[in-house]
Amino acid sequence: MKKIILLFVIVSIFSCKSIQKSTQTIAISVTPDPTKYMNTITADELKTHLYIVASDSMEGRETGSAGQKKAGVYLINQYKKNNVPFPKGAQNYYQPIPAAFLNAKRNENLGDSENIWAYIEGSEKPNEILVISAHYDHVGIKNGEVYNGADDDGSGTVALLEIAQAFEIAKKEGHGPKRSILFLHVTGEEHGLHGSRFYSENPLFPTANTITDINIDMIGRRDGAHASSNNYVYIIGSDRLSTDLDNICKVANAKHVKLDLDYKYNNPMDPNHFYERSDHYNFAKKGIPAVFFFNGVHADYHKAGDEPDKIEYDALTKRAKLAFVIAWELANRENKPVVDKK
Ligand SMILES: [Zn+2]
Repeated sequence: MKKIILLFVIVSIFSCKSIQKSTQTIAISVTPDPTKYMNTITADELKTHLYIVASDSMEGRETGSAGQKKAGVYLINQYKKNNVPFPKGAQNYYQPIPAAFLNAKRNENLGDSENIWAYIEGSEKPNEILVISAHYDHVGIKNGEVYNGADDDGSGTVALLEIAQAFEIAKKEGHGPKRSILFLHVTGEEHGLHGSRFYSENPLFPTANTITDINIDMIGRRDGAHASSNNYVYIIGSDRLSTDLDNICKVANAKHVKLDLDYKYNNPMDPNHFYERSDHYNFAKKGIPAVFFFNGVHADYHKAGDEPDKIEYDALTKRAKLAFVIAWELANRENKPVVDKK
């Protein structure tokens, strides 16, 4: 009951604000409605990408392996196809990470690897950067079996492709984001969040100008706690550094997607400590507000059975849409989220 009332108040405040805005002069650019672009994120396209990214030919995308590099080429080709360039200041779509960095904490004989990045420049505040991240590595081949990692994190990987495409379509129609967006496919997550740590220590854009990281890691399945419905997502970290970010997530969800936002794993006392276990954490450690979307663990977590035919594409689509509308609000709103917590 409390939650519903709170939500209603927040929605009211936001809608009043937008009414005030629209009564001002037309010359002031108002955040356009994202619905049309949100709906370019489709189950069919996510499925097409995922059956390729999580196919045996990618050999389980082990960090530094030929299979991972092949998956990386596929991602880059999608960005090229959609006319989404590599970031300003970069040489190409790769942020190379030397094997020495990947093996420094614990030598696992990982080869050189790469983060992959793409970029849409903001029209009004290009120097303010929103990062949307997902890891594209998985655990490779074990005992002759390919671990395809369709959910972990093929699901987040293909969500990024679709979110980028939606922003690019909007841009073509004159509704490009006001802030810049960095689409960051990080490597080495399964070995200890290495790719995101490398980025956070070697950021292409200053950390102080990075307004938020939206991280997506496993959004294509459901866990045992949600056996009766997949209309949920675990939201983790959104209120740890910024009350604004948490409010933005709640309002965007209530307005556009209406998933049940499950805060169970956001509890700092939760023994799973998922907040510390995916790539957003390396941003949060630098003081950047971060939110992590996650479906929880299931029977195929880190097993050979994490296959694309077990993905629930309706749920994957809704969760990708949620990340998109939150990104839309963050990229277009007047003020970046205030960091009001430590
Ligand atoms: Zn993962």
